[in-house]
Amino acid sequence: MNSKKIPIMANRIPIKDVIEANKCEQCTALCCSYITQEIDTPRSIYSFDTLLWQVAHQGVHFFKDSNGWFLLCQTRCQFLLPDNRCGIYERRPIICREHSHEACEFDSPIDEGCELYFQTFDELDGYCRKRFKHWDKRQAKFEAEQVRLGVW
Ligand code: SF4
Ligand code: SF4
Repeated sequence: MNSKKIPIMANRIPIKDVIEANKCEQCTALCCSYITQEIDTPRSIYSFDTLLWQVAHQGVHFFKDSNGWFLLCQTRCQFLLPDNRCGIYERRPIICREHSHEACEFDSPIDEGCELYFQTFDELDGYCRKRFKHWDKRQAKFEAEQVRLGVW
């Protein structure tokens, strides 16, 4: 059986580029498997309660880093091919072109380096319980207010 190795032409391609290209070859396209959107900084109990509703949905996360608060949705791009390559490479959006593989999701998970990262209802609920003294009384307070206003 014939076989051959593809030689690494270190004299023509910088070895660093070869290593980086291999990195993407080994990766399951982590950078094409989620989206993020900056959100207003949550401050009130009501704002955090709304985040709690959202994080209860599968694949919905929140994080805070030095740039602020962000929503993260785990969702694979519809143009990702079965071999994890981009199916619209020539038409891919600018943000995809800007993304560098030098220090990317393959090297360290997104939550690394975040000040706060919430991926479950219980994680955010626990944080809110520490942050707000009356967190666990909010539902009773809301219901009492509805009764007082005659809504219920
Ligand atoms: S840039 Fe990083 S996260 Fe994206 S495919 Fe390459 S190694 Fe994976
Ligand atoms: S358009 Fe291409 S590069 Fe951009 S997220 Fe989708 S598959 Fe990835």
